Amino acid sequence: MHDFDVLVVGSGPGGQKAAIAAAKLGRRAAVIERQHMVGGVCINTGTVPSKTLREAVLYLTGLSQREVYGQSYRLKDDITVADLTARTQHVIGREVDVVRSQLARNRVRLLTGTARFHDPNTLTVTDPAGRESKVTAENIIIAAGTRPARPASVDFDERTIIDSDGIINLEKVPNSMVVVGAGVIGIEYASMFAALGTKVTVVERRDRMLEFCDLEIVEALKYHLRDLAVTFRFSEAVAAVERHTRGAIAVLESGKRIAADTVMYSAGRHGMATELELENAGLAADDRGRIKVDPQFRTTVPHIYAVGDVIGFPALASTSMEQGRLAAHHACGEPVRAMPELQPIGIYTIPEISFIGRTEDELTRDKVPFEVGISRYRELARGQISGDSYGMLKLLVAPDTGRLLGVHIFGTGATELVHIGQAVMGCLGTVDYLVDAVFNYPTLAEAYKVAALDAMNKMRHIARLRD
Ligand SMILES: Cc1cc2nc3c(=O)[nH]c(=O)nc-3n(C[C@H](O)[C@H](O)[C@H](O)COP(=O)(O)OP(=O)(O)OC[C@H]3O[C@@H](n4cnc5c(N)ncnc54)[C@H](O)[C@@H]3O)c2cc1C
Repeated sequence: MHDFDVLVVGSGPGGQKAAIAAAKLGRRAAVIERQHMVGGVCINTGTVPSKTLREAVLYLTGLSQREVYGQSYRLKDDITVADLTARTQHVIGREVDVVRSQLARNRVRLLTGTARFHDPNTLTVTDPAGRESKVTAENIIIAAGTRPARPASVDFDERTIIDSDGIINLEKVPNSMVVVGAGVIGIEYASMFAALGTKVTVVERRDRMLEFCDLEIVEALKYHLRDLAVTFRFSEAVAAVERHTRGAIAVLESGKRIAADTVMYSAGRHGMATELELENAGLAADDRGRIKVDPQFRTTVPHIYAVGDVIGFPALASTSMEQGRLAAHHACGEPVRAMPELQPIGIYTIPEISFIGRTEDELTRDKVPFEVGISRYRELARGQISGDSYGMLKLLVAPDTGRLLGVHIFGTGATELVHIGQAVMGCLGTVDYLVDAVFNYPTLAEAYKVAALDAMNKMRHIARLRD
């Protein structure tokens, strides 16, 4: 008899939902988590603090109201780090309480300490006082997440040269910043600091950014960020960072030198699997600390599962939660339905981006015909009222069936609005539904109807010419 039916390593979104799902299925479940990390990266250093910071940036700079009240509109002139982080600790604290209470309500045991495998069914837990204990389980779910990858050649000092974990500890809003890496995290922070007036330079090894997003939408984002004085250095890499008393100099491989108060590395994340001594369970991680799983999130050892960031792309809180729930059902031998093809992506840049389904590039590459329907926020009454003239919503529609192949949104409310498209796609609806449906007025949701009419009219035009 094992101590638990399901034992989870990590209490981030993946681990929490796995443990709670197992408990709801009547299994004895426990979560092992390090001290001060309940809620994982998501609540403590990643999603929640960064999105709380973004909310403060938008509010205090008045950026999204400037089309309404004029370009000089600001709620506060000298925005300090204290202003920006005032709510962060509060929100983190409340979210940690919510996680603790949900685990307790569902009778999930929370074991505090760092876990490592002793054998395939046993984990050794080292508590904060250094005491070790062994816990056994029939099934184990690894939801250990990731940490920022740090190049060995860079001398991080947590002040001038930082990674994304260091943002919330900055002493002042930097006047200038180099962001190394134009991935989601890098570009989200680049846009927040640009909105605060920091002169941001983004250095990216590849020749474009967010390559999994719609190209037109990424172009719109780049235009906006350039307007906020962001400089992009694509196809460039940082060779070295020199630390000086009054700032740092990023030296690029091309020989360029960029001076900045702060250099933030956001060049990927490393899976936390390495610390788990996986070899004792007959498992291995790849060179980026990630664990390989099958579509049921099962590792090569049948009773050990892995979910969340530790298994790699898309590495989002949203997808990690769902993976945790699914893995728990598979581990408990309970039926469960998954929708892997319909996962939304939300990118909280300023302005924000969200999409679901396929991009124009992917469809073109796969020779799948599609029609495009576009709605621009400036043509919607709500867009004018809210002062968002740049937002857009794009539908990609299959001409033969009218089914939605993709929904891509840029601008206010994108991450919320995408779920209308998701519901239509998930219920196998067609563009006709969006044409026929009545939407509240004035709303941004109306963009769906306008874009659907646009696609429909283009398809009709082609049909008429062929008659
Ligand atoms: C700056 C930033 C912004 C982000 N913004 C968003 C966003 O807007 N939307 C979104 O969906 N996602 C966002 N993400 C991604 C999101 O935070 C992650 O996808 C999510 O947290 C992954 O969940 P997880 O359960 O895999 O693990 P994590 O949240 O990483 O948690 C893993 C936990 O496992 C624990 N652990 C690891 N090893 C051990 C061990 N040996 N013993 C005990 N415990 C261990 C760790 O302490 C940690 O608490 C962001 C990430 C960052 C860094």
